[in-house]
Amino acid sequence: MYLSEIDVLGEPAPALCPADATPVCDPPDSEAANCFREAHPARWCAPGTAASATCGPLAAPRPIERAVIHTIANASMTAIVNRTATVAGSGTCAHYYVFRNGCIVQMCREANVAFHAGAPVLNRNSIGIEHADVCNDPAPYTRELYERSAALVRDIRIRYAFPLRVFGIHTANRNDATVIAHSDILPGHHGDPGPYWDWEYYTRLLQWDGRAASRPVRLTSLAALNPTTPTGWDARRRPAIGADHCATTHHSYGSTFWRARPNTAGNDVVSRFRLSMPGLYKISLWWPRIDGANHQTMVDVEVQKAGGPARARGILDQSRRFGRWNDIGQPFTFDVPADGARVTVHIRRNSPGRGWILADAVRVLRVG
Ligand SMILES: [Zn+2]
Repeated sequence: MYLSEIDVLGEPAPALCPADATPVCDPPDSEAANCFREAHPARWCAPGTAASATCGPLAAPRPIERAVIHTIANASMTAIVNRTATVAGSGTCAHYYVFRNGCIVQMCREANVAFHAGAPVLNRNSIGIEHADVCNDPAPYTRELYERSAALVRDIRIRYAFPLRVFGIHTANRNDATVIAHSDILPGHHGDPGPYWDWEYYTRLLQWDGRAASRPVRLTSLAALNPTTPTGWDARRRPAIGADHCATTHHSYGSTFWRARPNTAGNDVVSRFRLSMPGLYKISLWWPRIDGANHQTMVDVEVQKAGGPARARGILDQSRRFGRWNDIGQPFTFDVPADGARVTVHIRRNSPGRGWILADAVRVLRVG
């Protein structure tokens, strides 16, 4: 079975917001958003008005210099939007809520301070963006969610004229970053959006000019998508992560992954991709933290395309760098011509070493 971007890259229908989340729909501040529904007034404050511990003294207009990325650690975005609009609750709110299908509901005007980052000084100059709807599984982070969220941040960044400096990619200085995770802006307090949030892909979307020909492409394949476990491999389950918690870098990407001891005669785990958009691509693998993982897992890539195949072999130390995307090669990149290419990735059972070979997730990313 080939995983193809033809299946996922068609222009999505315009995102529609759930009617029960938007009984009121006023014009939003950003044209990337669908509508504005105001949060309960205990959840935000207006600069230049009555001083409060959270908002004042702060002159209007407030400076807007960064976007903070959050994930709702719960299971229903509609329920959260309704609660945020109607009850004082815990008093927290973001400016924007991005649903799995790309619908964006604004709940606090950009001119006002929303209580989202956990410290007044962090709220005063930022826009908070919440995303659907759990961070203990990568499934909610759909292409539509990433693309609409990035379109929103592009629009905010242009209107307030701040530079693009993504924490962990363009800068390691959290005070200097203009797009940053909640977990990085206030370390030790919150885990969102967690390691499943794909910062490399998201950064490419933040840099995108919006033209179809230059669209960032990302495909992820899970070992567990295969209908049967290959002979000699054990299926392992990801430990349960509470509904209110994000994954950590110890967790597998799939809810199930496979492991096997090296064996010269054993079956490989194979992932296949069909790419039709011309450009430059690379391959990365994700694996969980497992005691006794292999130091020399061998991964072979073969690209079938006009003009002859391209091949690469990567040797990956799976005892390290778990819970993140790791490139094959430095990275190995390959060109996809106008008539497309087929990519096959083998996680080799006949790897050297003695430890567990791990087959979890494979990602293809367009990098140029
Ligand atoms: Zn958060």
